[in-house]
This record gives sequence, structure tokens and C-alpha cells, in this order.
Amino acid sequence: NTEENKDYLSHLNTEQRNAIETTDGPLLVLAGAGTGKTRVLTTRFAHILLTGRAKPWQILAVTFTNKASREMRERVNAILGTETERLWLGTFHALCTRMLRQHPECAGLTHNFTILDTDDQLRLLRQVMEPWHIDTKRWPAPGLMGVIQRWKDRGLTPSAVTDAEDCDFAAGHARAIYAAYQTRLRELDACDFGDLMLHVTEMLRTHPEILAHYQRLFRYILVDEYQDTNTVQYLWLRLLARRQGEVSNICCVGDDDQSIYSWRGAEIANILRFEQDFPGAQVVRLERNYRSTRHILGAAAGLIAHNTERLGKTLRTGRDDNQPAAKVVVTGVEDSEIEALAICTEANSLHRQGHSLAEMAILVRAGFQTRAFEERLMQTGLPYRIIGGTRFYERAEIRDALAYLRLLHNPADNLAFERIINVPKRGIGPASLQKLHTASRSEQVPLFAGTEMMLSRGELKGKIAEHLNSFVSALLSTQSLLQREGHVQAAEYLLEASGYLDMWRNDRSPEAPGRLENLKELVRALTDFGTLGEFLEHIALVMEHDDKTASEAKLSLMTLHGAKGLEFDIVFLPGWEEGVFPSQRTLDDGGQKGLEEERRLAYVGITRARLHALIYHAGRRRTYTGWQPSMPSRFLDELPEEHVTRKNDGIPRQKSLRDESLFSQGIMNNGHRQGSFSAPSGGPSFQPGEQVTHPRFGNGIVLNVEHTHLEIVFENGQTKRLLSSFVKKI
Ligand code: ATP
Ligand code: MG
Repeated sequence: NTEENKDYLSHLNTEQRNAIETTDGPLLVLAGAGTGKTRVLTTRFAHILLTGRAKPWQILAVTFTNKASREMRERVNAILGTETERLWLGTFHALCTRMLRQHPECAGLTHNFTILDTDDQLRLLRQVMEPWHIDTKRWPAPGLMGVIQRWKDRGLTPSAVTDAEDCDFAAGHARAIYAAYQTRLRELDACDFGDLMLHVTEMLRTHPEILAHYQRLFRYILVDEYQDTNTVQYLWLRLLARRQGEVSNICCVGDDDQSIYSWRGAEIANILRFEQDFPGAQVVRLERNYRSTRHILGAAAGLIAHNTERLGKTLRTGRDDNQPAAKVVVTGVEDSEIEALAICTEANSLHRQGHSLAEMAILVRAGFQTRAFEERLMQTGLPYRIIGGTRFYERAEIRDALAYLRLLHNPADNLAFERIINVPKRGIGPASLQKLHTASRSEQVPLFAGTEMMLSRGELKGKIAEHLNSFVSALLSTQSLLQREGHVQAAEYLLEASGYLDMWRNDRSPEAPGRLENLKELVRALTDFGTLGEFLEHIALVMEHDDKTASEAKLSLMTLHGAKGLEFDIVFLPGWEEGVFPSQRTLDDGGQKGLEEERRLAYVGITRARLHALIYHAGRRRTYTGWQPSMPSRFLDELPEEHVTRKNDGIPRQKSLRDESLFSQGIMNNGHRQGSFSAPSGGPSFQPGEQVTHPRFGNGIVLNVEHTHLEIVFENGQTKRLLSSFVKKI
């Protein structure tokens, strides 16, 4: 049976086979993108089983994402031809959760311990901090949470944190608070996400019998994306893999050029010292890339060659393409909106040439960039999915901000009130909320009016009264600002005056800057609409667009970080501009290290593509303060000419590109939009090119007709997307 199955090895090159058949002893596969590292790991897994070296549960296989572990499970099953059960295959966190469930008592937990989510973590930390009377303006709880998480990433329990580490944050109390927080977690029979790794590593360190059990159990260890392991993950692996006096069968695969998680504590040094950690280690290099065409590889290699801190690798294509390969296309467009339009148009035309949408991806540098694409994709009716993230308008911070705006628009919106009354924290717990409810009900007024009433009658006291007073006055003053200055200024003011923006500014978690960017992007989106009401109506429509199409092929929209390890025929890479990619934060830091990590991210992006890599940069980008000119990314200059086609001169004239747009091709087939472009509810129908007038913005010309909205360029040069019912034909 082993022999007849051996053809699972026949599709591999010599180096790959070598990496698979060298089953015993430590092995490092160090190789560039698309050289088959993951495939080697998967085949190795199957090979170990098929040659009877171990039972399925005696192999420990670590992947970086849940998606990757699903894929590996499927690939292993396909090679074996059966469903293998009880596999120790998953992400570091998933594997540690399972180990902790087997021995929870070692971490002072019971079998039913809970894993806290981020909100609960913060709530708990705030309670724990109270006795220290920390100045939370200066050292907010989320910041401290970040410090604690970094310690956990490094495998440091409270007692292992040195004085030097402890000195600056939270007036020197960070370590003590960390200790109290851990104690409190234990009392609650709970742990946070970072504890999963930390507890298990501690357990292995302090319980030799448990360590010995797992060391005996796992005869083989396989690790994907080794370049992105952080210290505690590394320690965990080393404990499991290093048995006294025996060689360990650990196989790690990785690529130093794809190390992109240092901001989460990943240590590229782990890969560099593999040979010291595991004496006698063999290193296999794979040089043939089976994923991408030679131009894609050439472009990626030319780019990454600008990094100084690298081990250096050669990559040549292993594909035997019959057709000549396409060069990497770099397209300059006038602005960020045209960029979204151009990419959707291109995706659609490639789709009609026979490429499946499932084989296309738009990879963005930062989460906030997805909004423009989401809206375009929705308007054009191209099915898409967001991977490793939430749709823009469903993100927590966007929903919070929308709740503020809904309350501003309609102070009777009780759901909105309840969502944000204690965000940021205003000391309004369930009991106080109950009070507000009771009072409002007895007066038959909405919660907001009820709150105003209770305040004016002096029925609220102390800190709560203070907080609610400033909340109510923030909303009232925004209402008058809304009349005077318009909805964009009002929205900005409300998010500021309510303390909502400060809440995220004070948050030191790695996600916080991204959330602030999303909020800016939200304010920016408001500028497309004439009034707050129009905007909220638009959002309601966008949010309603539910996923009826689960099985349909979809274009993927995700961040570059989320795309690691994946591959697509066609990859769109928008926003290659200074300040977007490399990111503004990297430029502000000014360090070489940060820039090199951004460049590795660019390398990851390009090497996701099999056939076409399409890079875009816009001449100006809409930010919440208005249009900002933007410069092409330095990475564009680093792409070798012979592998690139540049379309910089082809900056599309607004008109011609929009004429070719999907709308005028009439391919919107979302039922209600098919055929004619009439506005709903039987209003007049508009055509691109028609002259119209708007009560506020004056005369203009219709560029696009999109369901209920028109895109209009006005005489003052502004382009706006407006509800068609507000627009008259001239
Ligand atoms: P990354 O660094 O991006 O994670 P990787 O090194 O893990 O890439 P894989 O994803 O394993 O690379 O392989 C890239 C592609 O090449 C896959 O589609 C895989 O099936 C294919 N491939 C790998 N080895 C061979 C081979 N010997 N012959 C043909 N195709 C191969
Ligand atoms: Mg891989």
C-alpha cells in the first residue's frame, strides 16, 4: 500500500523530495515564496503516516492561520484518501488551547475555564487597576493591556519581568498590575488569548512529567511560516522538540523575506539561529518557484534585493508556461476613486475573459482601504468576500460611530443610544441604564430625552451626572453645529466632543491606529453625501446587502498581512503610494527596519500572483480633510524595468474611463438594477451625461447612475454621490 501510494512524491522536484524523505533529525527548509514549502510540509505529513513512522496523533503540525490548517488538513486527507482523525494540526493558539484543556489544573484553572474576549479583558484590567489610582489619561487601560500582551508574547510571567522592563509604564506599576490581573483571571477561572501560549509554556517548563508525555507523544513536529514565530511560540516549540540526548524530528519551513509580523512580537532571529538550537540540523533550500510567471518573480526579486537584512536566496521559475508571461503592470490613476473603479472594471473584464473571481484578490496595505473597494464592488454587483476581517461598516468602531451619527440624526434612536452611552466608559452600568429606561418609559420619551429630563431635575448624582451632562451637551451642541456647518464638520465634532476618538487615541493595542484610520475614512465617506440623512440611508442599504451567494465564486478582498501563504491567478495591489505603502507610520518612524518590513510585505503581495500582478497608484487620495496629493511609492522605482509595464502616461481622463465603466456597459444584474437606470419608487430616470441641478450644489453633469444614487460632477469641480430623488433634470 505504501508503494502504490508513492506517486504522491512523483510530482516533486529533487530538493523537495529530499526535504520530505529526510524524516529524522532537525530540518530547516529555507526558501522563497511559492517554492512549495507548505506543500513539502503537507506531503511530509502524509509521508510519515504512509511509511508507518508515526500514527496520525503523533505528529504536531503548526500553521499560522486557521485557514491554512483547514487547507493542510484537506491536502493531507486527499493524499491519504481518508479522513484522518485526532490530528494535532492547527494554529499555535488552537494547539495550546487543547493542551491547556488537558491539564488546566497546572495553570490553576478548571476544565471549564473560559477564554476572555478583548472587551472582557479590558473591563477586568480596569477593575484591577483601580487600587493603584493610575492616571488613566496618561496611561490608559488599553495601553497597559498592550504592554502586558507584549510581555506574554515574550513568554514573561509577572515574576520574570525585570525591574528595567517595568520602569516607565503606569508609573512603574505595570508589573504589579500584571500580577494582580493574572491572579484575578485565575480567580475567575479564565484566561486571555495571550495566556494560552504562556500557561502551556509555563506548564511544560515546570512539570517535567507533562513535558515528557508530550515529547514522547509528538514524534514529529512540523511548523509552517517559521519566520513569524514570536518568542513564546519559539520557547514552546523548543521545549517540545528538544528531548535530552535525542535528536528531535522537527521540520520548520520559512522565508526570512516574508517576515511581516514583528509588530506582534515575531522574531526573525528564531529562523536565523535554528542551526544552533538544533545541533545537527540540515538546511534544505528550494529555488524553483512553481507559482508565478518569470516576470512576477523577477519583479519581486528585484524589489526585495533592496533589503539589506536578509539571508539571500535565488528564485527561478519552475513553471513550464506555454504562453508568454505578462509583465507586472503598474498603473497610475488620477485619484483613489478612479483606482477603485479601474480595478473593478479590470476584474470584471478579466472575469468575462474566463478568469474565475475566486482566483482574483485585491490586497490592501491597511484595512481602511477596503471601504472604497467594497462600495464599488457592491455597486457593480461583483460578488466578493472579505477575508480575515470584517466588512467595513460592520467593524466595531464604525458601528459605534454610526450609532453616534444616528443619535445625532434622530435623538429618539434608542438602540443607538444604548450602544454608545457607555462607549467610551461613562460609568453607566446595567443598573444606571435601567434607571434611565424606567424614567423614560414613565414619561413616554426616548432615552436621550429621558436622560436630559433626569439631569435637569437633578435626579442623577455624582460622576454619572457629570459624564451624562457632558454627553448630552456634546450632542446638543453638535445639533446646532449640524445646522450651521453641515454634517461633515458635525460628525467630526461629535466623535471628538463625545470622547470617542480619544478612547482610541489612548488605546495602545496594535489595532488602535487602524481603527482611527477607519474612523477618518468614515468621515471622508460622509463628504460624498449632501446630508446626514442621505448618508445614513445609504448605509442602511449597504448593510442590507446580505450574503445570499455563499457558494458562488467570489473575489477576495483582504490585507497583505492576511494573504500570507495564499495564491491567486490575478492579484490587484492598490495604493502603492508614499504614506499608504510604505505606511505613514513607517515613514514617521524613519527607521530602516520598519521600511524593510514594509518592503517584505510588498514582496509577499507580488508573490501571491500566479499570472498577473497589477499594481496601482493614485495621484491624489481622498482623506477626511479633503483631497491630498500623493506620491508614487518608492517601491515602484525598485521594480526592475524588464519585468514591468508602466502605464503612468495613461492617467485616464476622468470622462473616458468613466464611460467605459461597468455601469454604462449595463452589466449590473442585481435584479432591481437591471436594464434601465431608473431611480426606485418610479422617480425620473437619469442617464450619464445628463445635465441636472441640486438644491445645494447647483448645476452639474451625471457621471454615473448607481441604483438610488447619482454620481455628479458639479460646476465647482466637485464630484458627489447623491440620492437621485434630490436631483432635478435641467
Ligand atoms: P509561500 O512562501 O507563499 O507560503 P510556499 O513555499 O509555501 O509559498 P506552496 O504554497 O507550497 O509554496 O507552493 C506554491 C505553488 O506551487 C502551489 O500551487 C503548489 O501546489 C505548487 N507546487 C509546489 N511544488 C511543486 C512542484 N514540484 N511541481 C508543481 N507544482 C508545485
Ligand atoms: Mg506556504
